[in-house]
Amino acid sequence: MCSINLSSEIEEHLPLRLLKLMKEAGEKAEELGQRLYLVGGGVRDLLLQRPNFDLDLVVEGDALKLAKCLAETSRVKLVVHPRFGTAKLSYTDFSLDLATARLETYAKPGALPMVIPGTIIDDLIRRDFSINAMAICLTPERYGELIDPYNGKNDLENRLIRILYQRSFVDDATRIFRALRYEQRLGFQLESNTAKLLQRNVSMINTISGNRIRHELELILKENRPEPAIQRADELRVLKQLHPSLKGNGWLANKFEQVRQLAKPSQILTLYLCILIYPLSKEENEQFLYRLNFPKRSAQAMRHALNLKAQLPDLAKPHLKPSDVYQLLHNYTSQAVQANAIASDSPVINQQLQLYLNKLHYVKPLLNGEAIKGLGVPPGPQLGRILQILHVAKLNGRVKTKKQEEELVRSWLAGNS
Ligand code: ATP
Repeated sequence: MCSINLSSEIEEHLPLRLLKLMKEAGEKAEELGQRLYLVGGGVRDLLLQRPNFDLDLVVEGDALKLAKCLAETSRVKLVVHPRFGTAKLSYTDFSLDLATARLETYAKPGALPMVIPGTIIDDLIRRDFSINAMAICLTPERYGELIDPYNGKNDLENRLIRILYQRSFVDDATRIFRALRYEQRLGFQLESNTAKLLQRNVSMINTISGNRIRHELELILKENRPEPAIQRADELRVLKQLHPSLKGNGWLANKFEQVRQLAKPSQILTLYLCILIYPLSKEENEQFLYRLNFPKRSAQAMRHALNLKAQLPDLAKPHLKPSDVYQLLHNYTSQAVQANAIASDSPVINQQLQLYLNKLHYVKPLLNGEAIKGLGVPPGPQLGRILQILHVAKLNGRVKTKKQEEELVRSWLAGNS
């Protein structure tokens, strides 16, 4: 078979500084008697001409030794994980992950693999899909040579996601989630045998720990538009394995879109999770939280979102004052309120939730405790009470200026003396 050389593609598509670093790394590897390869997503995205500057490099030899040598010659942050034989070099606008080429075997389905050092081919055959199982040699002697044992380049051209062997999803069912993520991100299709095996093996998701499933779900939710992958997961009965009541329908797609339009980037992931579990009962949500072993913070946001959902009818009652709305909502996190503002389809309820988020949440009296004491209110429960009265008056627009607040304190004192 004639070998393909991609050195011109590398030169054309990678930023100059990154290119220089990779060449230097390849030369250094050769000096140390090792071979260096660009692997996985970096090769896939180079061939697709999609930007990807967080690159994975594999070393036939000793990745830690090479990473240390590279860190000595350029000023760069180096983090090593000796247990895994991996190292990360972080430059200002990109990073290089180095790993020793390894051979993996699975003791039982869903277990983490057993690992021993290996060749680049060993390292490629342990991978998930043909499009991720390619490498480009970076050592000078074979610089730019494509190593493609599963015809991944062909699958990229035909836009196909293909597993490498029949038992792939059985050995590691996280690949089911990964398949859907790449399929939807790249607008590819599952190759027909892969699609058949995926459907046949969806129940293997039960062999995966909650943490690993949650990690894969979060990777999907971090995609630019996660909803097509969630919808596909529903269609292929993957979502049902996480909880039978989860749905990836048009409603969810529409709400995810609103999350992106309305939320701060740091809140998007939690809000997606709140939308995902919104159709669940509290009990079902608890089962889902337990299965995926959600950490406290996100679990709490999801619980709050459902607790508030149960209270929403109170917000539709007639003649509510702003202080009543505040009273109903102030114990919930703003994420729970925002999730309900997006998820609820009632205009009246939405108006109240928006009023709280945009205004009431921030309302505070101008007078603080010291200023109120200065007007003659003694410290203790009375001070707390008048602060509360001022807050309610302020929420309902009965006092606006500092002077009006002082008058309210004085008249309250007069009435209570
Ligand atoms: P992304 O663009 O999503 O970051 P990536 O290809 O860099 O894609 P990673 O999750 O960083 O993806 O994984 C790096 C490489 O490790 C993948 O390209 C794939 O070859 C391999 N890999 C990751 N997870 C698995 C898995 N569960 N089974 C086999 N190979 C995997």
